[in-house]
Amino acid sequence: MGIATPRDLATTYPRGYRDWREPTPIADIKLRAQARSSEPGEPESSEEIALGRVERVNEFRGRVPVVSADLRDATGTIKATWFGRKGFAGKLAPGDRVFVHGRAQVKFSRGSAAVELNVLHHRMLREDEVYRGEMVPVYPAGKELSSRAIRSVIQRNADALESLLPDALPPEVRARHGYGSQVEAWREMHQPASPESAAAARERIVFEEFFGVALAAALKRARRHAEGGAQPLLAPPGLLEEFEAQLPFRLTAAQRRVIEELWHDMGGSAPMNRLLQGDVGSGKTLVAAATIVLAARAGVQSALMAPTEILAAQHARKLAPLLLPFGIRVDALFGSMGARDRERTRGRLASGECDLAVGTHALIVDGVEFARLGLAIIDEQHRFGVAQRAALRSKSRAPHTLHMTATPIPRTLAQTKYADLDLSILDELPPGRTPVETFVLRQSRKAEAYAFVRKNVARGRQAYVVVPAIDESESALTSALAELEVLRRDVFPDLRVALLHGRLPPREKDEVMTRFARGDADVLLATTVVEVGVDVPNASVMVVLDAHRYGLAQLHQLRGRVGRGSARSYCILIAPDEMGDVERLQVLAATEDGFRIAEEDLRLRGEGEFAGTQQAGGGGGLLGSVMGDFALYMRAKADADGVIARDPELRLPEHQRLRALLDAQAETRAMLVSS
Ligand code: ADP
Ligand code: MG
Repeated sequence: MGIATPRDLATTYPRGYRDWREPTPIADIKLRAQARSSEPGEPESSEEIALGRVERVNEFRGRVPVVSADLRDATGTIKATWFGRKGFAGKLAPGDRVFVHGRAQVKFSRGSAAVELNVLHHRMLREDEVYRGEMVPVYPAGKELSSRAIRSVIQRNADALESLLPDALPPEVRARHGYGSQVEAWREMHQPASPESAAAARERIVFEEFFGVALAAALKRARRHAEGGAQPLLAPPGLLEEFEAQLPFRLTAAQRRVIEELWHDMGGSAPMNRLLQGDVGSGKTLVAAATIVLAARAGVQSALMAPTEILAAQHARKLAPLLLPFGIRVDALFGSMGARDRERTRGRLASGECDLAVGTHALIVDGVEFARLGLAIIDEQHRFGVAQRAALRSKSRAPHTLHMTATPIPRTLAQTKYADLDLSILDELPPGRTPVETFVLRQSRKAEAYAFVRKNVARGRQAYVVVPAIDESESALTSALAELEVLRRDVFPDLRVALLHGRLPPREKDEVMTRFARGDADVLLATTVVEVGVDVPNASVMVVLDAHRYGLAQLHQLRGRVGRGSARSYCILIAPDEMGDVERLQVLAATEDGFRIAEEDLRLRGEGEFAGTQQAGGGGGLLGSVMGDFALYMRAKADADGVIARDPELRLPEHQRLRALLDAQAETRAMLVSS
């Protein structure tokens, strides 16, 4: 179950409880079951507990032996049944007192209806025994390990497990929230007195988890600030106006705000470490350009790294005109470049003749040196590993770093997943953009989608057809190629159809994209390599085949490829006929707000899958859920920030145990904290 070490077991918690404190009067159990059975849409059975005296025992010796007994309490009698318990009848006698837990349901036989209780657990009580009910914890059990077995292992080892808990919250933080010790809370979680006390205990535990995550981030940030070492890049007065004057349009308010945030960070001696989130088309390129302009003014070089050559080339193309008025010299560095070109660019980076290097991973290989790198920009930062991002920054002592992403993630998640980054959000689209009209069509109407493509091509527009070769594997590509054949031969024999997929050599990919951007192809059949950044304003229709196979956020990215020009644009999502539920895809038809779509994606897919983080219940994941417990996270963060502000090196005696908390959660933090 992913529980490999004692510490994993110490952080394995119940996922819920059965309230077995008070047996339900039998009359009530029957009334409830009857009410349910006459109410359409209600479940047929529900779990109940009862305490009664056995009146009569029957046994049916079929293939599955069934023992039944009439059970009476002060309010009534119910038929309780045990299935598959051979020989059990001999252990049950009239007059016995028994506690039962089971599923109550109305059963019909021979024209009459009666409520029966199908027993799952029972316990015999002595004649004078007082029933002491409890809250029974339910653990994340599996086929081979029951909740009861997990409970018993935890109870038997409670003392040893408790000693593994960090219990590190500083006294003043505990006092502020009225929290007891972590050990008490841990005991209460596993054996609570009431649902309320279980909830309080859970809060106490989750708080300490969150405190650890927030503390690690605060510590990292404090170190970054203390170490400094970055060159302050000060924006001279009037630079923003000068920059805007070179643009064919006015900055949006969001762009202006974010540029100021970035320039403010860059003016400090602590290296900037900021994440810029912006929806597709929100104008991130321009914001990046503003940081490059400041860097060049202050006399340092910039590097921009993108995950693919297509994207890097496009950045270079789009940045060049924005930077030209400022005399900024731009060079590109790609893996596919010839040795001679590469050497020339490297020479210019090392000598300082080049102000901005735009490239791919080729920027971070050994031997690439910068004369004075002061700003590192990482586009689509989630597509790079921690080591790769660090490699770019290591090209200089402490460059200011800007991480960018066009895949918005909900603010709640960003606060925790990227706890050590400062966040800037471009939440406004430039004016004059026409929204992309989005439709969901069934597979059997695909021909209509293609007819619509044809109509738009006849008007001089271009179109994308996206096929789900998500993993770009051989078999997936085969289907893409088969679709290409169909399109070329049967559907669009008279149109120019080009193909783009991830397995093409970079040079060919570029050729295809350039051809499409020039208007020399009408339809681009592509895999998701067109997902990010690709910009062809004349393309106004996108058809996504098998759209149900993608996440909403990814579809939103794909859709961002159209609607980039002034023409009215369309996105048609094709879903299989047999798939009943297209509600998920309808979210895209309803909104173009990337943050809302991300929230919805998160709601539908769950946090674990969305963030790639583990869920509670063993294996070192967190019990707390960033979405569900966000307010608690923010409280823990405020306290953690406060502790680091007062004691940035954790030197005070009352903070010594916090080090243990940092160690204990190292793995979890590695999942959550990004850089
Ligand atoms: P992103 O990279 O965030 O998806 P881009 O930077 O590619 O977005 O910008 C999308 C389009 O919007 C580009 O064509 C760009 O020229 C244009 N644009 C950016 N900022 C503005 C603005 N303030 N006013 C008008 N158009 C803008
Ligand atoms: Mg962009």
